[in-house]
Amino acid sequence: MTKDIIAFLKQHFSDIEKHTPYAKERLEAFLNLGPLHYFIPKSLGGRFQGALSYLNTIETTSYYSLPLGLTLGITGSLFLSPMSRHAAPELRDSVLKNFVDTPTLGGMMITEPAGGTDVFGLTTHYETNGDKLRLSGSKCWGGLTGLADHWLVGARAKRGDRLTKKLNLLYVPLCAPGVKVETYFDALGLQPIPYGRTQYDQVEIPETHILASEGMSGLRLLNDTLFRSRLGMPAIASGHCKRMADVASQRVNDRHVFGKALIEYDQVQYRIETLRGMAALNHALWQYTGKWMDDHADISSHYTLVNAAKLVCSETIQAASDSAVQLFASAAFKRNHIAGRAYVDSRPFPIFEGSNDVLDENLYDTVVSRHGQCNCVTVNQEFSQFGLSLPGRTPQSVLDLLDKRTVESQRDKVLQGRMLAWLFVGALHDQTAPHESEHFAQGQQLAIRRVAELAAQAPYLG
Ligand SMILES: Cc1cc2nc3c(=O)[nH]c(=O)nc-3n(C[C@H](O)[C@H](O)[C@H](O)COP(=O)(O)OP(=O)(O)OC[C@H]3O[C@@H](n4cnc5c(N)ncnc54)[C@H](O)[C@@H]3O)c2cc1C
Repeated sequence: MTKDIIAFLKQHFSDIEKHTPYAKERLEAFLNLGPLHYFIPKSLGGRFQGALSYLNTIETTSYYSLPLGLTLGITGSLFLSPMSRHAAPELRDSVLKNFVDTPTLGGMMITEPAGGTDVFGLTTHYETNGDKLRLSGSKCWGGLTGLADHWLVGARAKRGDRLTKKLNLLYVPLCAPGVKVETYFDALGLQPIPYGRTQYDQVEIPETHILASEGMSGLRLLNDTLFRSRLGMPAIASGHCKRMADVASQRVNDRHVFGKALIEYDQVQYRIETLRGMAALNHALWQYTGKWMDDHADISSHYTLVNAAKLVCSETIQAASDSAVQLFASAAFKRNHIAGRAYVDSRPFPIFEGSNDVLDENLYDTVVSRHGQCNCVTVNQEFSQFGLSLPGRTPQSVLDLLDKRTVESQRDKVLQGRMLAWLFVGALHDQTAPHESEHFAQGQQLAIRRVAELAAQAPYLG
């Protein structure tokens, strides 16, 4: 990553008491330094050198500012990557050039007022008329609503009066006639990223604006895109958790209570170690997922890796923010404080990109549907596809739960799915991160502790 990007972040986001939402001018100045170029192929003027290079940029940016890191994730993973991989060459080249030359943004709109989790319930649709499409519908919660000029919109094909199951991503510029941002939401957090509701009223676009790839249905293309975005989220989590650990460490070293520095208290040390462990786990995760994405052309069926990565990284983004607030205590309970802001800004991570409750169950169901049941043998079989096996230090209570508990209710599946996610990430960290890497032991300890904690809940689910 370029030195001027790092210098900019340091200059504007070092002061922990100045985390009020930044203005559009600051965002544009940052974009002018080219952080999004890491998503754009070199042949089109970008700096793409594989997923690890853009994830590195996202990690560093998120260290300084969670909303800014998420902005890169939205535009990069949800717009530039799919455009680069699946758009027709003439469309791709002209749109991506715009990102090389100007400080512009992109995003994706899937969610609708009637719901986001169920993609088959979407009603936004397009009708084909010769080589033109007409798009109609209403979308909400698209990150960067009204601010981003370029959009990928999820829509179903309509034939006559019938909404088919055919689902595609359509490129639609914000300036197209018939596109209107109807309202902006007074969002609880992430203020620099506008959210709202956008109406598409008979928007006419060329047929070539449908993203397509040989041998891939629109649904698979959408899943592949969303899954890649989820595999990028640990880079946001890694940067964010490391910042929370660094600022909290400084605070507990400087502050004295009952005549000694806070860091001298065992419970305070435990919190700091846990924060370090969260950063270490997420760092190992994106190092792995970045390489995985480069090595696989279609990841639309890699549920175990994708769900585990998204579940653990979003949980830790939130838990790290919460723990930092506890350590700063009253000092953090301010809108402009980095930890206070993070406490609110981190909340949607377990909601967007697939609600965690749903991904938990889906992870459990993936193992059962592939291997007939979920026990230690089949979990090892599933993990082995990723070159992993159950961690050697897995508590006996967890092994017993996998082998002996009959899973009947959805809440049971959700609990076991979440436990599988942590087992998977624990295994990945133990078996792929260098043992001498920073805070390796804290990452290992955290994963095992979380797994044991989840297993202990099983008898009491009601
Ligand atoms: C800050 C923020 C940013 C966002 N960014 C984007 C974006 O850029 N683009 C975009 O398209 N959307 C975006 N979204 C929307 C987000 O993806 C949706 O909120 C999410 O998919 C959930 O949909 P929903 O809110 O309609 O919840 P619902 O679908 O109503 O689900 C609500 C809850 O019900 C439960 N639930 C749902 N289904 C099941 C089930 N099968 N089993 C058990 N429990 C279930 C879960 O607890 C779930 O969280 C964003 C949302 C937020 C808050």
